Amino acid sequence: MSAATHVLVLNSGSSSVKYQLIDMADGSRPAAGMVERIGEPPFPDHTTALNAVADELAAAGLGFDSPRLAAIGHRVVHGGTRFTAPTVITDEVLETIRGLVPLAPLHNPANITGIEITRKLRPDLPQVAVFDTAFHSTLPEYAARYAIDWETAERYSIRRYGFHGTSHQYVSRRTAELLRKSPESVNVIVLHLGNGASASAVAGGVCVDTSMGLTPLEGLVMGTRSGDLDPAIPAHLHRVGGLSVDEIDDLLNRRSGMLGLCGDNDMREVTRRVAAGDTRAALAFDVYTHRLRKYVGGYAAVLGRVDAVVFTAGVGENSAEVRAAATAGLEGFGIELDPALNAVRSAEPRIVSTADSRVAVAVVPTDEELEIARQTFAVIPRGGE
Ligand code: AMP
Repeated sequence: MSAATHVLVLNSGSSSVKYQLIDMADGSRPAAGMVERIGEPPFPDHTTALNAVADELAAAGLGFDSPRLAAIGHRVVHGGTRFTAPTVITDEVLETIRGLVPLAPLHNPANITGIEITRKLRPDLPQVAVFDTAFHSTLPEYAARYAIDWETAERYSIRRYGFHGTSHQYVSRRTAELLRKSPESVNVIVLHLGNGASASAVAGGVCVDTSMGLTPLEGLVMGTRSGDLDPAIPAHLHRVGGLSVDEIDDLLNRRSGMLGLCGDNDMREVTRRVAAGDTRAALAFDVYTHRLRKYVGGYAAVLGRVDAVVFTAGVGENSAEVRAAATAGLEGFGIELDPALNAVRSAEPRIVSTADSRVAVAVVPTDEELEIARQTFAVIPRGGE
């Protein structure tokens, strides 16, 4: 019998379940897919969605009962201060994750449902939680603390947790490889620009600052989220505009960012409109890239010495326009983009700065699934090996 080297990576979101089966023996991916629009027919709930995933895997001869399946790795959004590393799931661990729901009411419940269902399907199989917050648990206390009343912060667990950690971890390490250096020897600014967007400052492989905070709302301008704003704005909207707490939450998370500024949250459409002379789209693009430059400059100050600025995720990997605007005028920081290299489209990790640029500018496609699979495989007990 062949060894159990497959890891099933599950990302159970509120309305979708994404899965990838990765063979850790050779890095191949024998199955991958997604079930969308959970809550609508034919997938009224997560149980039906995960049963559909089970059926798809079984049809490929790789079902939940496969002897090659070594473990299931679950993406879990919020690990609080309790989880700082991938964790084998026990009843107690699951209860602790449940206790963190108030910190991530939009995300953790779906992650928990996914874990519960797959534990029923394969009670004997190791299952591992890989937390989006874990890579940021190394933030120095002065970077994680908000300057608010101490007792209030303690009572409600208010601090900077950061998200997209798996991506920041994978991309910063991959960037060191691209530079042919050890992760311990390089300082990297990672710009994860997808639908959600976050920046991090990684010093020698250790995350020392990140732009998302208690929730994924803080920091960069995103597809539909505002990112940073004056903290008095929500109270103002409530007092003067009469908006309820839920309306404000909805406004800032789902109707702001690029969508709020110009009516489009897809950067492809925004840049197409900019090229066609649309002034509203151009202003939105400028707000987005101005924020990026502020974070690059800020994190350069945090790190002291920067070896690379790296772009990843949907926008970062694909939009030459965003990369150019986000690094424009930063020559004084030693950042010099090469326009020809930047214009090349590729799925490979690559350097897009000039040969003379003191700081490398890189594009590194993220691979959260592979990182989750690796971390899962590394912590599970494996008999006979
Ligand atoms: P992600 O969350 O990483 O899947 O990124 C999704 C986002 O990437 C989309 O909403 C688009 O705005 C953006 N995107 C994808 N492809 C391109 C492209 N070719 N050019 C610019 N933006 C893109």
